[in-house]
Amino acid sequence: MKYARFEYDGEILYGIVEGQEISGIEGSILENYAATGKRYGVSEVRLLPPVIPSKIVCIGQNYLEHIKEIGATPPEKPLYFLKPPSSLIGTGDDIIYPRTATRVDYEGELAVVIKSEMKDISRHQSKTAVLGYACFNDVTERDLVAKDPLNLTLSKGFDTFSVLGPYIETDIDPDNVELKTYLNGKVMQSDNTRNCVFDLPHLLEYLSQCLTLLPGDVVTTGTPKGIAPMKPGDLVEVEIEGIGKLSNRVISAGLTS
Ligand code: MG
Repeated sequence: MKYARFEYDGEILYGIVEGQEISGIEGSILENYAATGKRYGVSEVRLLPPVIPSKIVCIGQNYLEHIKEIGATPPEKPLYFLKPPSSLIGTGDDIIYPRTATRVDYEGELAVVIKSEMKDISRHQSKTAVLGYACFNDVTERDLVAKDPLNLTLSKGFDTFSVLGPYIETDIDPDNVELKTYLNGKVMQSDNTRNCVFDLPHLLEYLSQCLTLLPGDVVTTGTPKGIAPMKPGDLVEVEIEGIGKLSNRVISAGLTS
């Protein structure tokens, strides 16, 4: 099942995507909801980030080939950092190239949306506490990472640097899906989540020992090799098997499209 959050006629609504249509629902996708009986064409609505998280928890250095390309060694425990919810945008929104930036990269990732509170859970309990999965672009000011590697809040926390969507898909195997990132239509990243250093149950078990994951929170699972810079005017897309494609244009700060 695919959940969408969208704007239609000035209202923010939720629905279930069925082909080119969305069936409206009322209530909460995290608890209980009911069909409204209203239907919307996907092309008639503006898709929004499918959830508003209290926090975005990102895993770093989780694909071996990416660890090699940045000259690191595989971590013994998952590495994680937080991105501010204020950096969140959805598919179709513009990624703003900050005035002070000198190199802005995409990072295509699989994201997980938490359904019920996770604190000190085991890997076996983790699956039932997940609502579903979405594409994520962990946009990063790479030159700031090099200058100040411990301040990822700076390099990854700019407005529009967290892209989530287009939907939340409930029925994929998160540890065996193909992920691709395209820059202006060219494949730049291509890998399968089965090649992650830490699988998803391990990540959730570990994170839940460090902080409480709340309903609606987003956990991303790291990026494969193939990182590269974007520039204003570029189109970046993150596609995950079974979920769909996240598509965003990069624009200069101060411009709106
Ligand atoms: Mg990342």
